[in-house]
Amino acid sequence: MSEARGGAVNFPVKRGHKAARPELFQTTLRNRIGCAGIGLHSGQQVRFTVYPAEAGTGIVFRRMDLRDAEGLTEQDICVPARFDYISNTQLGSTLTNAAGVSVATVEHLMSAFSGCGIDNARVDLDGPELPVLDGSAAPFVMLLECAGVARLSERRKYIRILETVSVEEDGKQVSLSPHDGFVMNFEIDFPVSVIGKQSYGFDMADGSYKSCIAQSRTFGFLHEVEHLKSLGLARGGSLQNAIVLDGENILNDTGLRFPDEFVRHKILDAIGDLYLAGAPIMGRFDAVRAGHSLNNKLLQALFNNPLAWEYSDGPLGSARQMPVAAPAKIRRAARG
Ligand SMILES: [Zn+2]
Repeated sequence: MSEARGGAVNFPVKRGHKAARPELFQTTLRNRIGCAGIGLHSGQQVRFTVYPAEAGTGIVFRRMDLRDAEGLTEQDICVPARFDYISNTQLGSTLTNAAGVSVATVEHLMSAFSGCGIDNARVDLDGPELPVLDGSAAPFVMLLECAGVARLSERRKYIRILETVSVEEDGKQVSLSPHDGFVMNFEIDFPVSVIGKQSYGFDMADGSYKSCIAQSRTFGFLHEVEHLKSLGLARGGSLQNAIVLDGENILNDTGLRFPDEFVRHKILDAIGDLYLAGAPIMGRFDAVRAGHSLNNKLLQALFNNPLAWEYSDGPLGSARQMPVAAPAKIRRAARG
């Protein structure tokens, strides 16, 4: 069995956070909750509601606006949040099912599900993408916290990494290695000094997802945003939902939430992308200059190698952040 690359985890351990106890059982929400906001792609208002779901459901999106569309069945409007449904990684992560039904910009909500330790939920939405909200995962975390977490009676399964799997492309690199828990190390290097070289290490078990990762916002350069808008993309992109850079200047009046907000957001995205594995990963993730595309290729490489992983019951450090209630009586969302 291979060792974690680089041996000991080489990132600073953050103090003052309470380590989460291992969660052995699957979870869902205690109550349904939702909100509305602008979609990044369309610039249109999108409403979504997150419902509790039975053990073994995973995260499943449902395009309620297509419910009465001709030729589509109830199954056709459901899109599972899984890596093998990824169809586009250009502007965030887009999922598409066999019927051609898509849900875009899922990564920040998926990151919040992972960070809050929620295994099962149905997400109904009335448009082709989730709202971008403030460009971070913090509003999603707030919603999930308001809904509360319920423990189910079925055991949680983890994806335990047994062998290092890595993908390299154009000077970018990602890998998953064996590790007792879920830790991440991300490096970025941009040719503008306002970002420059940043690296960040994160341990999901230390309870700091909400305070250190969830609030970090997505970012982009003004010329890129203008180019995308000229192509009819990123119509909802604005200073309200992204850090926008013009050369060395940050155009947002409020500045940065963290000096290294950029690399923290890359961790936020990677947490969401890796949660498309369908279960929490037990391993170490290392990334250099990577993004949604490479994160997805890493999961493809992992699941193409049956020797590199196995399902495991734990018990090891989990993502749980919030108080967990007694088993909930699960109501099916609308009709199931
Ligand atoms: Zn993002």
